[in-house]
Amino acid sequence: MLDNNLIKVFEKQQTPFYYYDVDLLERTLDAVNHEAGKYGFHVHYALKANFNDRLLKLVQAKNLGADCVSGNEVLKALETGFDASKIVFAGVGKSDSEIDIALENEIFSFNVESIQELEVINQLASEKKKIARVALRINPNVDAQTHHYITTGLDENKFGIKVWELEDCITTLKELSSVKLIGIHFHVGSQITDLKVFRSLCVKVNELNNWFEERGHYLDVLNVGGGLGIDYHDPDKNSIPNFAAYFETFDQFLERKPNQEVHFELGRAIVAQCGSLISKVLYVKKGIKKNFIILDAGMTELMRPALYQAYHKVQQLSGNGNRERINYDVVGPICESSDCFAKEVPLFETKRGDLIAIRSAGAYGEVMSSRYNLRDEIRYVFSNDN
Ligand SMILES: *Cc1c(COP(=O)(O)O)cnc(C)c1O
Repeated sequence: MLDNNLIKVFEKQQTPFYYYDVDLLERTLDAVNHEAGKYGFHVHYALKANFNDRLLKLVQAKNLGADCVSGNEVLKALETGFDASKIVFAGVGKSDSEIDIALENEIFSFNVESIQELEVINQLASEKKKIARVALRINPNVDAQTHHYITTGLDENKFGIKVWELEDCITTLKELSSVKLIGIHFHVGSQITDLKVFRSLCVKVNELNNWFEERGHYLDVLNVGGGLGIDYHDPDKNSIPNFAAYFETFDQFLERKPNQEVHFELGRAIVAQCGSLISKVLYVKKGIKKNFIILDAGMTELMRPALYQAYHKVQQLSGNGNRERINYDVVGPICESSDCFAKEVPLFETKRGDLIAIRSAGAYGEVMSSRYNLRDEIRYVFSNDN
């Protein structure tokens, strides 16, 4: 809950800044551990959602693994204290030096996205006299029914190995002595709120699991990726995603062979709700057709609305009273027309200096911030600062 008592804390700070609710993050992590623990599932936190040092430390302290998509994320995970044996590394374009970093640190698994990548990892591993553990990232052609910019599991996407390439993959693997196949990996998209999508994914994973077994490849690991969505419309009612239903879906529909491990890679569902972007109203523009609130935060601080028309709830922290509501377009100061957080938001009459919170901004917020327009470095405040 972002309660209005926080105004006193926020008023002392220079806006804009990210505010992270440590208590909510910890309760979210406890819920993940509790619900995944029921079935012995392994959860890796996807660093790309938010790699703020302090936030990462809180995640690491709850013993999650790490899911990385760059060499620097692998290094960051290690620096933060994540165990190498719990680090997985995905990415459609891993460079040689990134692969070397992961090999040197003997991470748990490469999630390999093409046959060519298998060959490169094999080459680099043999030079180091190492055996690289790999999981094949398979594109299962499951429609995540989410925004097309965050859909990753369809045939038309650049990610993963297509099902019809698997025969070749197996042939290649037989010739490679420095890679060891440990499993299969999937990640079909993000902000998935309909659990039926995960049910369809389970059906595909089951088929492929059998396909590999029939060919004599026993897989230790089924990694089903991340993608669980959150409630952007009602962040206070649903501040913690329904992890119970999510993990239960996999327990019910995913067929595991004896001793087969199930791994998850959750990003957004873990960190989105604990973060808010706090901003001040700089100017109010009253027009004939439209009223605008111009904030001191913009797409440079939170890019999701400009990048994929994402919805974030706009909460007025100050300035509410019993007055009537007015529709405002809530925009930032950046010299781009796409620098708009939300259109036609009904808010109480607003004035210069009022504080506004853009909610559910903990995932893909701070990490996507930029210095465009030579903006100041992004600031942040944790609820346990004093
Ligand atoms: C981004 C990403 C995730 C996390 O996705 P969320 O939607 O934030 O849960 C997991 N796995 C891979 C491979 C990713 O690229």
